[in-house]
Amino acid sequence: MNYDENNIFAKILRGEIPCKKIYEDEFVLSFHDINPQKKIHALVIPKGKFTDLDDFSLNASSDEIVGLIKGINLVAKKLGISTEVGKGYRALANISDHGGQEVPHLHFHLFGGERVGKMVE
Ligand code: AMP
Repeated sequence: MNYDENNIFAKILRGEIPCKKIYEDEFVLSFHDINPQKKIHALVIPKGKFTDLDDFSLNASSDEIVGLIKGINLVAKKLGISTEVGKGYRALANISDHGGQEVPHLHFHLFGGERVGKMVE
C-alpha cells in the first residue's frame, strides 16, 4: 500500500492539524488520542512515512526501529505507566484491514492508568 500523504497523522506531523503533544524526538511524536478508550490513551508514531508495522519492519532503518521502541518506553515513563514508575499498560498496533487500522500511518496505542481488561473483544 502506498503511503497517503494526506492521512491525519501526516497532517499532524506537518503541523497542519494540532495535537495534544506528550513527547517528541528525532524519531517519534506522541500525543493523546482524540477519542480516549481508557483513562490514559496515547498514540506513538514514527516520524518516517510508514503505513503500518509490516511496512516499518521491512523498510525502516535500524535507528528508526530502535527509536520507536525506545520512544514507547519514554512516553510510558512520562505518563507514569511504565513498569519503572507505574503499573504497566498495553501497547497495541492495528495492522491494515483485518487489524482494524483506520489511520494509514503506523501508530502504537498505549492504554493505561487503569486495568485495561480483555485483550480481544
Ligand atoms: P486505528 O484504528 O488503530 O487506526 O486508530 C486510529 C486512532 O486515531 C483512533 O483511536 C482515533 O481516535 C485516533 N485519532 C484520529 N484522529 C485523531 C486526531 N486528530 N488526534 C488524535 N487522535 C486521533
